[in-house]
Amino acid sequence: MRILYVFAHPDDESFGPGLAMADQAAAGHEVYLLTLSSGEASKERAWLGLTRRELADVRRRELHAAGRELGLAGVRVMRFPDGRLRTYAGRARRVILSTLRAIRPQVAVGFPDDGINGHPDHVYAHRALRNAWLTWRAHQIHPVRLAYVQVPADAAPPGVQGMAAGEADVEHLASSEALLRCEQALLCHRSQAAVIEAYRPLEGLRGRVWFSLEGEPQDAPLTDLSAGL
Ligand SMILES: [Zn+2]
Repeated sequence: MRILYVFAHPDDESFGPGLAMADQAAAGHEVYLLTLSSGEASKERAWLGLTRRELADVRRRELHAAGRELGLAGVRVMRFPDGRLRTYAGRARRVILSTLRAIRPQVAVGFPDDGINGHPDHVYAHRALRNAWLTWRAHQIHPVRLAYVQVPADAAPPGVQGMAAGEADVEHLASSEALLRCEQALLCHRSQAAVIEAYRPLEGLRGRVWFSLEGEPQDAPLTDLSAGL
C-alpha cells in the first residue's frame, strides 16, 4: 500500500506521526512525505546565525535524514514560505494534487482542521490537502482514505483540547522499534534541538498515534490506518 503524508514544516512528521510512519514502512508499505515549507522562519535561526536561505537548506537536509530513519520511500520538501502558507494555499493545493496523481496513494494523511496546535500553516496545509484530495478522489475507482493526525487529550500541548479516548477512528500503537526510529528521526532535526528538548513531543504520547478519517466514522477504532482498504 502507498501512504502519503502531507505536513507544513520539517519536523512535523517526527513530533508523533513518525511513530506510525516507521511501523508502516517496516510493514512493507511505501510511505511518502510531502512537506510544504522548508521551515526557514524558525525562531532558532537567531542563535544559529543563519540566513533564511541557509536555514532552509539545513532543515531540508535534516528532514531527508529523518526520512531515512523512518524508512520512507520518498521525501519531497517544497519552498513555500514558512509562516505564510495562507497566501500560497492555491499553489500548495496544486502541488498536492500533482503529488497525489504521481504517487496514487491509497491513504493520504495530514493535519486536522485545527492544525492540532492552531498554527496557521498547519491549518492551511489541512485545507490544501483536503481540497486536493476531494478533487483527486472523485476520479478514483478503488477506495481511498483521507486521515488526520489527532493528539490524545492527555498528551495535548497547552491550549489544545486533544481527542478523548474512544473518539479516534484509528488508534495506532507503535512498536518499540518504531519508537526508537522516531526518536532518531527527531534527533536528525538538530537545528530544532532546543525546541524538541523543551517539548519532548514523544513522551506524553506513550507510543500512540491517533487518526480521524474523512467521511468514514468508525464504531470502534481501527488499529491500522490501512485496515479495510
Ligand atoms: Zn509545524
